[in-house]
Amino acid sequence: MHLKRSGSSHSLGSRLVLVTLGFCFVFTVFTVAVRTYSAWNEAWSAMNADLKLLEQVYRPTLSKAIWEMDRDSLRASIESTKPLAVVGHIALTIRSGDLASEVIERSADGWQTSTLAPTRHSDLTYAPFPGGSENVGSLTLAGDERVLWARLRGEVTDIVVTQLLQSLLLAGLIMLMFNRSVTVHVQHIARHLGQLAPDKMGQALRLARNPKHSDELTLLETGVNQLQSKLTDHLAQLHHYEEELGAHRDHLADLVQERTAELESLTEAQQLVLSLSNRLIHASHESFDASQRECLLEVAQRLGANRALWLVPTAASPAFRVFTEWRSDGRTESQASEPLLRGLIQVPQRLAREEVLFFGNQAEMLLCLNPLEAAIFTLQPVGASALALLHSDGENYGMLFIGKPLGQCEWLAQDRALVTMTAQLLLHSVRHQAQLLNILSTQKALRAANAQLEVLSRHDALTGLFNRRHFDEMKEAEFQRALRTGQPLSLLICDIDHFKAFNDHYGHARGDQCLRDVAQVFRNVISRSGDVLARIGGEEFAVMLPNTSEPDAWQVAERLRVAVSDLRLAHAASETGSHVTISIGLAQLLPRYGTDFEALFEAADQALYRAKSKGRDRIESSLPPIPQGVV
Ligand code: GH3
Ligand code: MG
Ligand code: MG
Repeated sequence: MHLKRSGSSHSLGSRLVLVTLGFCFVFTVFTVAVRTYSAWNEAWSAMNADLKLLEQVYRPTLSKAIWEMDRDSLRASIESTKPLAVVGHIALTIRSGDLASEVIERSADGWQTSTLAPTRHSDLTYAPFPGGSENVGSLTLAGDERVLWARLRGEVTDIVVTQLLQSLLLAGLIMLMFNRSVTVHVQHIARHLGQLAPDKMGQALRLARNPKHSDELTLLETGVNQLQSKLTDHLAQLHHYEEELGAHRDHLADLVQERTAELESLTEAQQLVLSLSNRLIHASHESFDASQRECLLEVAQRLGANRALWLVPTAASPAFRVFTEWRSDGRTESQASEPLLRGLIQVPQRLAREEVLFFGNQAEMLLCLNPLEAAIFTLQPVGASALALLHSDGENYGMLFIGKPLGQCEWLAQDRALVTMTAQLLLHSVRHQAQLLNILSTQKALRAANAQLEVLSRHDALTGLFNRRHFDEMKEAEFQRALRTGQPLSLLICDIDHFKAFNDHYGHARGDQCLRDVAQVFRNVISRSGDVLARIGGEEFAVMLPNTSEPDAWQVAERLRVAVSDLRLAHAASETGSHVTISIGLAQLLPRYGTDFEALFEAADQALYRAKSKGRDRIESSLPPIPQGVV
């Protein structure tokens, strides 16, 4: 990551120089001020000293010249100060008694009165004789301010030049030193940090300077190297974590792949069990056992087994028999199995508890089963194997054994699930089959009972002919058919003559037998399909003759009458004859809409009544009678 610099870039050195120069400027100004003040004072003192010296030189001369009134000398003396630049103005005051004083003075060109330049004033005395003193006048010497200023200018120029030179040299030196001692190294550090990358963390920062130096840069150098070292460690740690994370990710991916494969094969196993279940559901009763065997075989093959065995319990000894056995080599040794089964007298205890057992090899199996129990399952050497109990609601439906070839010692989770699901499936199918068998046999019995009931409900128990109920059902159907087809429908109602007397005479049992005999005669005569013969009362029979006209019906009636008569069943109590006879009422109807069967029945009944009335053993028709004996 690069930090963006804000604003313009200045080196620390140049900033330091600028600060130094600024300080030098202020210092120079201050120094110039102080030294100018000092120079002014020096110049002023020097001018004052010069004026004092002049004063000392001129005073005797001028005092004497005044005393002597030597005007020329005075003037010459005054003029002689002209070359002296320091004297800006000289004034000589001559005192002469009470007279006004005379002043002789001279000023330099351009001189102006100044308060800055020194001015000396002294009295002039003259001693005309020893011990005497006379005040003859006074002398005033005023310095020329311009001289002071000229001197000051020179001084200030020197001071400024000197200070500037000093400042510049100092700044240059600082700049140079700072560059050599700091800037170069800071730039080096900046370059080093700028080029720092994970693969260059091992390159330590080395500043090109005397190793004996120990200062802030040394601290910085050490700090940077320590930081690099920590970063290197941190990166190594990160790299280590990344590698670990990568390894975990790979492991996780492997696990996910493994679990996905497990789930897929579990799903396949479920689908297999589902398809087997469907097959069993749709299997017919006859092919159910074969379907169950096929299911076990498919599962065994799917598991890579080389042997599958299904034992079912028996009531006798041995306690189990082989329901089905499959071997990958196609051999079955049911005969060899027989003696081995004798050792298996009950479900092994461990299996009874756990219902499904998985063994990695034969030795494991022998830890759970005793050798006699295991004998049937170890008929051939076995690798991994499974034993499942088909058990439900206290009922034992058998045991499943699935064995893998030697060398295969593993049961994958999905294979275990498949074995368990198969055991459940076969258990349910066996239970289902048992229940189905129960239902089928119950259904069969019910059907038979129903059929019997149906027969009984439609037949007369005594004679075996149809009863009144069946007749009533049929009469409507036949009437409707005749109505549709437009064919005539005839009805005969037959009644045994003096049957009460028969009963009374011969007893009820003989009466019953008589009824059976007459019924048999009726059965023999009424043999055309479609004709309906029924016992509709105690000794009353009805014959419905579809598609039969009255003359044809008459013939049938006559055959009946004759046939009964021909039986020659003795009837000693009959008033009609010596044997049993019948009377028949005949009616025929061409059904039309608006008529019903009852009209036909009524007509036949009335005809019967007439037959009885006319002496019995005869036929009467609702139509004009046909002469007797015409058949
Ligand atoms: P008719 O010649 O006028 O027909 O006189 P009948 O005696 O035959 O007629 P009735 O109706 O008076 O008598 C019918 C008798 O049939 C009365 C009854 O004892 C007898 N009977 C009805 N059903 C049975 C039966 O199932 N078995 C026996 N043995 N007798 C029966
Ligand atoms: Mg009767
Ligand atoms: Mg009768």
